[in-house]
Amino acid sequence: MGRIVSIGECMGELSETGTPGTLGMGFAGDTLNTAYYLRQSLGSDWQVDYVSAVGTDGLSGRMVEFLNGEGIGTDHIRRLADKTIGLYHITLKDGERSFTYWRNDSAARQLASDPATLARALEGADLAYWSGITLAILPNQDRIALIEALSQFAGRGGTVVFDPNLRPRLWDNPETMRGWIHRAAAISDLCLPSFEDEATWFGDRDPAATVRRYIGEGARRVIVKNGAAEVTYQGADGAMTTLPIPPAEQVVDTTAAGDSFNAGYLAAELCGASTSDAIKAGARLASRVIGARGALVANVATTL
Ligand code: ADP
Repeated sequence: MGRIVSIGECMGELSETGTPGTLGMGFAGDTLNTAYYLRQSLGSDWQVDYVSAVGTDGLSGRMVEFLNGEGIGTDHIRRLADKTIGLYHITLKDGERSFTYWRNDSAARQLASDPATLARALEGADLAYWSGITLAILPNQDRIALIEALSQFAGRGGTVVFDPNLRPRLWDNPETMRGWIHRAAAISDLCLPSFEDEATWFGDRDPAATVRRYIGEGARRVIVKNGAAEVTYQGADGAMTTLPIPPAEQVVDTTAAGDSFNAGYLAAELCGASTSDAIKAGARLASRVIGARGALVANVATTL
């Protein structure tokens, strides 16, 4: 039996239903999306736990129920009496999605404020997955605490996997973001950036430059996603390789493309696939996810 922990913030998603005056309610968030697709992709010999913090109110309860219903472990989600979950609303206008967020004071911002809870969550896990969004929402001292906890986890032989998921709006300024992202990559075994974001915020000229930069910061392995273009990666052997991505049958909604790629990749690797086969599995899963609407698409992994 193996155990994965995915650490971060899951939010309530409010979306238009087409019925005036009625909003639909769902749940999503980058690290939750990856946990969801890991759960779909892996057999019952793997436990997938979500590590976060929510409130004790009804809405928080619904989120925890949702996660349980999807087979995702919730034992390491803190319940804070004076907080609730973050929310966002999606507006679709002329095919363009725009988002409104209420997350500045969400419970998840305290997910790393209790060292004992964090240590318990990581105890005995094989792999810890987190992202730049996980880091962005934390107060400074908790960023340090989380990096320290994950670094100790890695020291005990755990695998730390990091998606930079750059979101400058969540940071005080881009310089601060860049500094913390590199500190996070430095303690991660595997770093899974998306080139477009990296080019924008780090000025990388090509995906190979992204690979080299994260390796230079201390990541052991780096896999750079680049939309429909080829994936560029460097493994522990130090060789830089590119792998083309098969074209997606149809692109309906690219939400969670990167998150689902990461899950497909990790699930394949945990089942013994080579790096190139695991990348192909990640790309297959992502292409199915972007062929349907929404971040969480049911039954896409089981048919791979
Ligand atoms: P993010 O969602 O983080 O921006 P990317 O856009 O780089 O990530 O996409 C992540 C992965 O999703 C890609 O590596 C690829 O496998 C798949 N993907 C994304 N867009 C397409 C596309 N248009 N056609 C085929 N695959 C795609």
